Amino acid sequence: MKQPHTIWVLGNGQLGAMMAHAGERLALHVKPIDIMSPQAEPLVLGADDIVTAEREQWPESSLSLQLSQHPHFINAPVFARLADRYSQKSLLDELAIATAPWELVSQQTQAQALHQRYGDRVLLKRRTGGYDGKGQHWLKQSEHTQIPDDWRNEAIAEQAINFDEEISLVGARTQDGRCVFYPLTLNLHQNGILMASLAPLARLESLQTKAETMLSSIMHELNYVGVMAMECFRVDDTLLVNELAPRVHNSGHWTQSACHISQFEMHLRAIAGLPLPEPKVNFQTVMINLIGVEKDNNWLSLSNGELFWYDKAVRPGRKVGHLNLSAKNQAELSQSLTLLSQWLPEQYQAPLEWVKANHN
Ligand code: ATP
Ligand code: MG
Repeated sequence: MKQPHTIWVLGNGQLGAMMAHAGERLALHVKPIDIMSPQAEPLVLGADDIVTAEREQWPESSLSLQLSQHPHFINAPVFARLADRYSQKSLLDELAIATAPWELVSQQTQAQALHQRYGDRVLLKRRTGGYDGKGQHWLKQSEHTQIPDDWRNEAIAEQAINFDEEISLVGARTQDGRCVFYPLTLNLHQNGILMASLAPLARLESLQTKAETMLSSIMHELNYVGVMAMECFRVDDTLLVNELAPRVHNSGHWTQSACHISQFEMHLRAIAGLPLPEPKVNFQTVMINLIGVEKDNNWLSLSNGELFWYDKAVRPGRKVGHLNLSAKNQAELSQSLTLLSQWLPEQYQAPLEWVKANHN
């Protein structure tokens, strides 16, 4: 494929910005678009341009229509299929890929019947629009919680999984069907939001091939091109897929510091038809999400730290940046974790302890 003139990104959040940043050093012209921009002049899209997205779902606007209707909108049919948890889970069932036992919440579904099938705790998830734990509703038999009326046909019900830990796999597929993968990432979520990631880990190596086989089969089935992330629950040696993201993913941010090709560059290379070697990992890296906290220039004094600040208004629960910490030198990492525990608020104490307990 001829090198595209411009790579347009549907969406202009931090993922689009980091994609543009990764494109700069390859002199790829990456342009994230605010699809809700009030003074939206029509875009001048070239026939050789390509379009990608930093989100799996978007509101309709003149700009989102223009971008999503471009003949080179990569993975066009995939977004709607994966953005709806019902069709996403159905796809996983068709591919015989294990997930938490689940069903559609219909007009007839009774909470009691869900508890009989799945136990005391059942998680309702909105089919579309949920992120960072939003759009979730727990049903507890012991508390007689009921299904909200406006969740019927709009949600799925899942068994609560008592997982050992959460891991994810980020991989990419080329136009001719070759796949490359990063090592599995260990993730810690608090209240449904990713707090920290850690990769690579020797003890996850035994699951790597299994996870790659699962994500390859999904990407092949969808004829997917670019980076996709697969979030899993690990229960002993079994992986249950929790969620798929047809885009670069928060649990792949560690690759920016650790790898010779980051997930952002990998995605651009794949969609632009550029060479896609296996990513080399130079050292173990910890990613700490900065959520609802003000920027603190102390972070910049960490000898093994790289700050990525998104320049968004700080609001409680909002991802406003992340810190990548190299774990190459154990003493240096310990020192940085101790400093961060002084600089970050209470909700970070458990994640920082988790990093200490899990890194090599
Ligand atoms: P994301 O921001 O990754 O898109 P999300 O809010 O859309 O997240 P999920 O990834 O499905 O939703 O769930 C968020 C978190 O909630 C999971 O990472 C996990 O910690 C917890 N969770 C989700 N489903 C289950 C389940 N069936 N059993 C136990 N915990 C769950
Ligand atoms: Mg998730």
